[in-house]
Amino acid sequence: MNGRGKPRPGVLNYAPSPTMGISVMALLITKRCINCDMCEPECPNQAISMGEAIYQIDVNRCTECVGHYDTPTCQQVCPIDNTIITDPDCVESSDSLWDKFVLLHHAAS
Ligand code: SF4
Ligand code: SF4
Repeated sequence: MNGRGKPRPGVLNYAPSPTMGISVMALLITKRCINCDMCEPECPNQAISMGEAIYQIDVNRCTECVGHYDTPTCQQVCPIDNTIITDPDCVESSDSLWDKFVLLHHAAS
């Protein structure tokens, strides 16, 4: 469990801008997850939370770590191969991920 607000995984409230750059995707946690708790505290966007049975990623907050790391840090720390994968239902452009990063971290400035 975590004390953070409840994101709404699977619901793309964020509207991606038209695809202008490289196509990328938000990430998805599969049923291979063993609930080891490694990924949740490492996410710079608080996109990971405990779901009903396993951890889940809020597509509205996942930027593939754009603006923070060169590669998705949740994938780096996950001890189970192929557990955190790209979500084919959440294709976004790199521009969209950067827009999301700005909204999440700098919208108030
Ligand atoms: S890729 Fe980065 S932003 Fe997305 S869920 Fe993983 S750690 Fe969080
Ligand atoms: S690091 Fe991997 S196995 Fe551990 S909770 Fe996250 S997704 Fe599940």
